[in-house]
Amino acid sequence: MASFSEPEFQQAVHEIEQSLLPLFKKSPEYKKIFETAQIPERVIQFRVTWEDDKGICQVNHGYRVEFNSALGPYKGGLRFHPTVNLSILKFLGFEQIYKNALTGLQMGGGKGGADFDPKGKTDNEIRKFCEAFMRELSRHIGANTDVPAGDIGVSGREIGYMFGAYKRYRNEFAGVLTGKGLSWGGSLIRTEATGYGLIYYVQHMIATREGLDLEETFKGRRVLISGSGNVAQYAALKAIALGAKVLSLSDSTGTLIAEDAEGFTAEDIHAIAAVKVLRQPITAAGLQKYKFHKGARPWALVDKVDIALPSATQNEVNEEEAKALIKAGCKYVAEGSNMGSTIEAIQVFEADRKGNKLNDNSYIYYAPGKAANAGGVAVSGLEMQQNAYFNKWTAEVVDAKLKQIMADTFKQCFETALEFTEEGQAPSLVDGANLAGFLKVANAMKEQGDVW
Ligand code: NDP
Repeated sequence: MASFSEPEFQQAVHEIEQSLLPLFKKSPEYKKIFETAQIPERVIQFRVTWEDDKGICQVNHGYRVEFNSALGPYKGGLRFHPTVNLSILKFLGFEQIYKNALTGLQMGGGKGGADFDPKGKTDNEIRKFCEAFMRELSRHIGANTDVPAGDIGVSGREIGYMFGAYKRYRNEFAGVLTGKGLSWGGSLIRTEATGYGLIYYVQHMIATREGLDLEETFKGRRVLISGSGNVAQYAALKAIALGAKVLSLSDSTGTLIAEDAEGFTAEDIHAIAAVKVLRQPITAAGLQKYKFHKGARPWALVDKVDIALPSATQNEVNEEEAKALIKAGCKYVAEGSNMGSTIEAIQVFEADRKGNKLNDNSYIYYAPGKAANAGGVAVSGLEMQQNAYFNKWTAEVVDAKLKQIMADTFKQCFETALEFTEEGQAPSLVDGANLAGFLKVANAMKEQGDVW
């Protein structure tokens, strides 16, 4: 069982376990597999010493959790953030296993990072840190072993520095990281993939429930988005392109609300992206026409909402905020972030759904991050496929594959949930995602003799 000193990990285990209870009742042998799957195959923990611009030696904790390789090489991002610890990485790695399974691609689950704060560091210091981090990590990863990617604090620049460091240490140009630059093995659409994929997933939620064509699903809808990083930016751009009104974007300093105007424009998003690359606050984008709510999250700031897309960090929607969303008429919540909602918030959403018919438009329909934000890792998987063939697909080809993967991910979650739902009732996409992802991994573990 998860240790009590790992609250985020425990929360993730508990959340999945709740969904699996009906399966354990039907087929008790899966209990043992779940217990086994909670222990990472390997955890690598290491010291990262690097030199800052003043010539002073700095030290950080580095980690890689190689959680599960039943379906393929360990795959999952690297996070550089002062809050990084083993509990957070184990929660992220655990979720990643089942998310990767849902994509249908050959990927196991892992996660890593460091408690390094990139904020306020010079480019030179970032490069030195990345090289020092890869000095140890390069011993453990490989194109067929473990393929990390970016996450919070690790974008294209950091991937570049780490890829270069790996190449120098190992003398090998290999598809060992995803999110690479386009001229050296990266895939088109990887940058956009999580945000776009999130919107594609929500399109299917709306289309199935309301009987609409995919192109009609976002038209005129009022959308709240949190965060203003990679996921939030591309979710906002795709939602705007589909005719939605994006009312909020936020960061760790507060929330910008564009309620009085027509919502954020694509130009506004580009202005925000430009300041975020420099790691500046959202207010530095100069969008004074919109109201800034210092220190606030978006969920209770607007009276009328159709769709909420948490896309900043874990536990960013709590019970009160979940209730505020329902009060504001919100009908869809889909997480761009990993574990965006607290357990209490999920209970509020799920209680609102229970007992309703699928096509009722009265309840809030909730999709967990492990399904809704799988687009990022899906295109990482497509990057691995292109690297394996030394090949490059066009943006149209990758986007079409991403759309198909998100459609299939939704279908698996929806249909598996239906199997465990009383006839005619609206299925739980949380249960569907957990059950479908777990069953795939569990069966592979059994077939490979990981557990018997
Ligand atoms: P970025 O670093 O690009 O952006 C993160 C955003 O969240 C920033 O706006 C940041 O604000 C804000 N933020 C971070 N911590 C907090 C906090 N404690 N309170 C309020 N705001 C906060 O990250 P991504 O967009 O890549 O990732 C966002 C989420 O999506 C994460 O949960 C990540 O795990 C998940 N995710 C990302 C994927 C990807 O492909 N990038 C794939 C799947 C999931 P500030 O700028 O002030 O720091």
